[in-house]
Amino acid sequence: MSSPLDHIFFPVAILLLFSKKLKLNPREVIALSFFAILPDIDVIFFGSNSISFHRVLFHNIFIVIIPLSFSILVKSYREVFGIICFYLTSHLILDMFTGGIFLFYPVYHDVFFARAELLLSHGSFVTTLEYGISNKIMNNGIGEPAISSENIAVALLLIICAAISVIVIHGKTE
Ligand SMILES: [Zn+2]
Repeated sequence: MSSPLDHIFFPVAILLLFSKKLKLNPREVIALSFFAILPDIDVIFFGSNSISFHRVLFHNIFIVIIPLSFSILVKSYREVFGIICFYLTSHLILDMFTGGIFLFYPVYHDVFFARAELLLSHGSFVTTLEYGISNKIMNNGIGEPAISSENIAVALLLIICAAISVIVIHGKTE
């Protein structure tokens, strides 16, 4: 399972990186970032006993189609709905590669999954490439940390970068 931090960090970093090229407002990119974890809200509302139901309700193509049609129809909010679309899509892609999602629920009730890995095993690299349709999610995140040790390391890196940029900006204005 991708952790909440992965779900927010990767798409926000990507959009901020391209914000100038795509003429996006960085404040909107940050403010709308909660949409990147919105599909997991079913766990909060229905509790952990609904884990078998998790990734059903909000992990399908239809939750992306709603903001997508708004971005086409409502021209004055195109940027906002476009960013929402990107965040929801990024969530679905991350989850598709980590267990699978019910891509066409409620029309079609099977899980679409993909797995691409490079493992170092006994001194040699082993590649895994799997994809297809299954009747259940491979791994629904039970027993995995919601925030991993790796996430903390990434957060530390972010803090270091933020501190350096503040020092640099401060140095320039003096
Ligand atoms: Zn999810």
